[in-house]
Amino acid sequence: MEDIYLRQLAVGPMQNFAYLIGAVHGAECAVIDPGWDATALSAAARQDGRRISAAVLTHGHFDHVGGLQDLLGQAAIPVYAHEGDAADLVAALPDLHRLRDAERVLWGGLEVLVLHTPGHTPGSICLLADGNLLTGDTLFLDCCGRTDLPGSDPVAMHRSLRRLAVLPKDTKVWPGHNYGDRPTAALSEVLKMNPFLAASTSEEFLRLQG
Ligand SMILES: [Zn+2]
Repeated sequence: MEDIYLRQLAVGPMQNFAYLIGAVHGAECAVIDPGWDATALSAAARQDGRRISAAVLTHGHFDHVGGLQDLLGQAAIPVYAHEGDAADLVAALPDLHRLRDAERVLWGGLEVLVLHTPGHTPGSICLLADGNLLTGDTLFLDCCGRTDLPGSDPVAMHRSLRRLAVLPKDTKVWPGHNYGDRPTAALSEVLKMNPFLAASTSEEFLRLQG
């Protein structure tokens, strides 16, 4: 039986996914990437008998962060992001908790491993919990995050994807946008449908990036 509570929620007009995660038996959860609609996220948590007790940002882009101030207006919860994206966030979030690679954090009673996966932004992270990988804008099911934006780095993205590609094949991938033909897939499937991830172990990747 799975030990994780994980709920995927489609939010806003840019095909974003936000997530609620926590221990399977618990009254709390963390919201991952509260873009857009704080009311919908809180309502979903309440529906599942949970209270949102933390917010975690996979990176600092507005479509993953936009609902945060509304959420903080409802309850004063701690907010976490990687230190690499903190500079852009800290003006609005002076109490931001800065995460580091390989840190293990307890959110909603669930132990989560933080993987620093720069490339899309300097402080992009993926979150690994109980065989589930929340990938933000680092890895989508059939592509990877853009690396042509300010702060992006295609070489860092190459390294980050190579790191994800060697996780256990039955790891479930939960992306930050609904760009695929399904909302989630096992890493073994993603390796087949995603040329960027498949090529991450070779120099082919940099050619694909353009
Ligand atoms: Zn982004």
